[in-house]
Parts: sequence; structure tokens; C-alpha cells
Amino acid sequence: METLISVARAQEILASYPFKWATEEIGLEHAQGRILARDILALCNDPPFDNSSIDGWAVQLSDLPESRIEIGTIFAGDQPITKSLNPTEIYRIMTGAPIPLGADALVMVEDGIQGLPRQDYIRRKGENISLGEVALSTGDLVTSSSCALAATIGHKSLPVRSKLRIAIIPTGDELTELGKPLEPGRIYDSNSIALSALIRKAGAEPIIIKPVLDSEESLHKTLDYCAEEVDLILTSGGVSMGEKDLIRSSLIERNAAIFWKVLMRPGGPPIFGHWNGTPIFGLPGNPVSSQTVFHLLIVPWISHPDIFHRRVIVKMEEGLRGAGNRLCLRRIQITSSESGLVGRALTHQGSGNVRSMVLNDALTLIPPNTNIEPGEHVNALWLIA
Ligand code: AMP
Ligand code: MG
Repeated sequence: METLISVARAQEILASYPFKWATEEIGLEHAQGRILARDILALCNDPPFDNSSIDGWAVQLSDLPESRIEIGTIFAGDQPITKSLNPTEIYRIMTGAPIPLGADALVMVEDGIQGLPRQDYIRRKGENISLGEVALSTGDLVTSSSCALAATIGHKSLPVRSKLRIAIIPTGDELTELGKPLEPGRIYDSNSIALSALIRKAGAEPIIIKPVLDSEESLHKTLDYCAEEVDLILTSGGVSMGEKDLIRSSLIERNAAIFWKVLMRPGGPPIFGHWNGTPIFGLPGNPVSSQTVFHLLIVPWISHPDIFHRRVIVKMEEGLRGAGNRLCLRRIQITSSESGLVGRALTHQGSGNVRSMVLNDALTLIPPNTNIEPGEHVNALWLIA
């Protein structure tokens, strides 16, 4: 087992345990947010034929404007005209209509019938993408624009990675299910909610398990069950040095831990290993820690970072203390101003303060052994809501 490793090393280890994604074909209207399982080739040219980008006239560049004679009108959807134009003949033409044979320039309706002819108003066959060209690549995030491109080049559906099934196991004697009264000493289980939303956003399917007590018997029973059912087990809580931190102790005792503790704050004690052959990732219980670890380590492993954040450089209004030899993820709010992006740390930064993830919208990436002075720049992940 490796321990006290850098974020980069943890990401590298996780990447060396890839999932066996199945592929499913999904209609374009439902494909947004999924990850492409294969390269997508153009099944036709875009545009499929030379056509007009304006409303105007189709003419010949070499004609005499005063002698132009309009001999008909071509609309979008009309069959291409294949009888070549005589020198004085022109067609009235609408946007999207095919260019008639012999025409090599267009005049804008706004310029009048004797206006200046221009060749760049013609949208040429295949100028955007040509038949057989790779339009989208394996591993790409499917966006609304890529769905539109796929439709343009003749696809009705796309091959995407099938959704991973991910169990969420909240652990802790203090956890209360939502909707039940809060007894003294108890708290509501909020991590399951955050994690299920994050897992859905990642394009996977969350399976929320009821909170598990801090007893080896109930924990192991739940892990045995989940290991049979899912592609990945995510647990929350029980990974640090407490006497009832049973995820940590169980994995280490079984010799099933691959790494434990990452040099980041918040989120230091995550543990990664396997349970009966199924990968298991133990997230810290503190709500902010569990979310930050998800963003930094789970997202690049199971999903696509573009869904979750943009990496930006921000000028900090106030100074920020780093976290010693750890990567420091302070929560900041970013505003866009004329002089660029400006960051402010608005709230109390405790890793138990889930509100800090609501009032702020970014995580700093302050390198180890660094403090940020007021007015200095810092790298940050600007989270996409
Ligand atoms: P642990 O990692 O189990 O020591 O938990 C660290 C802190 O996170 C404790 O204050 C827990 O009460 C809290 N915590 C653990 N699990 C959850 C959860 N599912 N939802 C909200 N807070 C939690
Ligand atoms: Mg606990």
C-alpha cells in the first residue's frame, strides 16, 4: 500500500485501474453528457451540396451587372438545377438553396439585382466536414453541439460508454436518514445526497445504500452485497485515524488497500482498494472533503473533467494560507471583471461546512508549501453548477 501520495500519483494509480465499459447506442436526443465509446465518422458531407448562405441572386462572376435577366427562383429544398446558365441569366435564390449549374457567385438582395457578386457567399460542399472524416473522437464528452454535428453528418444515435453502477455507502453511528427526527448527537446524512448528484452528473448510476452503523459485521455484510452488484463502491466516513474508522481498518487488515492518504487539504485520508475484486474508494466523512476528493480523484477516473470544472487563473483579493506540504483546496467565489477573474474566499473554510460549497463556486489549487499574498494569482477549478 502506498501512503501520503500526491494528488497526481493518486490520479495515476486510479487511471491504471480502468473500468470495463460496455458500449450502448443512444439516440441523439438523449446522448448529451455521455462519453463517446468510438470515433464518429461523417456519413455525408457538410454541406452536402454547394448552397447559398444568403437571400439574393445566383450569378456569374464575369457577367455584366446591367444585363442580368432573372429567369426563375430557387428555394431551399429544391432539386439542384443542372441546365447551365447562359451569360446573362441569373436566378433569384434563397438561403440554403442549391447553387444552379454555371453560377459561381452570389449577390445579396440588399445590394439590388446589379449588386457586387461575391464567391464567399457560396457554402461549398464538404467545407465544414467531408464524407469519411473523423468528426468526434473516442472519449469525447457529448455536448449539445456534438449531438447537432452528429445529426448533420447523418447519425441518428451515438455509441457511448454504458453507465457505471456506483454504490454509495454512508457510514457512521451518528447518521440519520432524511425525513426522520434528529436525535441528540445525530446529524443528517448529506454525503449520500451530494455524491448521488455528483455521480449522476458524471454520467453514472448511483445506488444509495442506507447509512451503515460503525460495526464490522454490518459494514462487511453491506460491502459483500455491494461488491456483487456494482462496478464501484464509494463509501463515506470511517477512513481516518478514529477508533471506529472501519473502512480504513477493514481494508488494511485484509491487505486490500492500494493507497491511503493523499497530500491534499481538505480531503487528506481517502483510501482506495478492492473488496472481493470490486474497486472500493473510501471518501472522508467530512462533507467538504468528500466533495473535493470526488472532484480531484473520482471525476478524472470515471468521467470527464469538462463536465465538472474549468481550470482558471484567478487574482485573489485577499491572501490565502496554503496547507503546508499539501495541495490546498480553499473554496473561493470567482467574479469576472474587466481586468480578468477575481477570487474571494467568502466563508469559514472548515471541512465540515457544506455551506461553503454553496456560497463559493471554485476550489483553489494552491501548491504545497505556498501561501498566496493579496493581489497574487492562483490556479483554481471553477466548478460548473
Ligand atoms: P469520519 O470520517 O467518519 O470520521 O467522519 C468525519 C466527519 O464527517 C464527522 O463529523 C461525521 O459526523 C461527518 N460525516 C460522516 N459521514 C457523513 C455523512 N454521510 N453526511 C454528513 N456528514 C458526515
Ligand atoms: Mg465515522
